[in-house]
Amino acid sequence: MATALRKVQWELMLPHEMEAALRDCPTALVPLGTLEWHGVQNALGLDALKAHALCVRAAQAGGGVVLPPLYGGVGGVDQPYTVVMEQEPTLISRLLEPWLVSLCMELKRLGFRAIILFTGHYGASQQMAVRETAVRQAQRLDLPILGTPEYFLALDAGYVGDHGGVFETSLMLELMPELVELDRLEGQPPYQGIGGGDAKRQSSRELGQRFSDVICARLARLARRMPTWDAGQRQAFLRAEQAMVSLQLELAGRSGNEWAAWRQVTHFTPYGELLAAERFADIEALVRSFPAQG
Ligand SMILES: [Zn+2]
Repeated sequence: MATALRKVQWELMLPHEMEAALRDCPTALVPLGTLEWHGVQNALGLDALKAHALCVRAAQAGGGVVLPPLYGGVGGVDQPYTVVMEQEPTLISRLLEPWLVSLCMELKRLGFRAIILFTGHYGASQQMAVRETAVRQAQRLDLPILGTPEYFLALDAGYVGDHGGVFETSLMLELMPELVELDRLEGQPPYQGIGGGDAKRQSSRELGQRFSDVICARLARLARRMPTWDAGQRQAFLRAEQAMVSLQLELAGRSGNEWAAWRQVTHFTPYGELLAAERFADIEALVRSFPAQG
């Protein structure tokens, strides 16, 4: 693509570079992750490293400023070297939500006109905390704010997310191959503390590149477009995201299982394409057509 990659990481910018970046595209990309076991073959910071790397690529292509990733969230597996800041299951976040609320207010005060809260860590509780907080803050601040896990942007590419399995390991082979040691996986699955296919035999850089390309193209388009949305587009976007949050909370509440809305995650397969194409009414219709049995 571009020969000289633009500087997009907030913490590396000089004030004049931040000024220019804000003038060009006032979107903040906020990568979220945690410190969590992802198998013997992967780095412990995978979720945040992955989210950050995807945001950097997207901002280099589309514009926007990438914040340093947050290493801490809701839930985490019961495995070594894993920090669980908030226990799951829960539908209430007492640490992540107020952090994000303040951060969004600060980003608006500093001149950003759109925010993407992009989580690479995704138990159901984390996903709901992020999307719900994005919706509430979008209303309070009158700003387009998206809160989503990365795989929701690429469900139609076959990427449904996992935990240190074929999907996340493949993405790391593309994004940060120096941090993957596949030979450390011995024997056959199930491997310790990870889930999703046979990470040793099925992971590949090609697969990771395919997912990364789809995610980054959509993220880049959103980053570029979101600050330009008019009031009508912002309203339609908000209604679509509100519908997503309401469905997830209602199903969780009714069934007592926070994962209820993800039992048929394939129902949301068109979400990433519809979102990037700004077809918000179609997302709302998609949510409303979720099979009633929950
Ligand atoms: Zn992960």
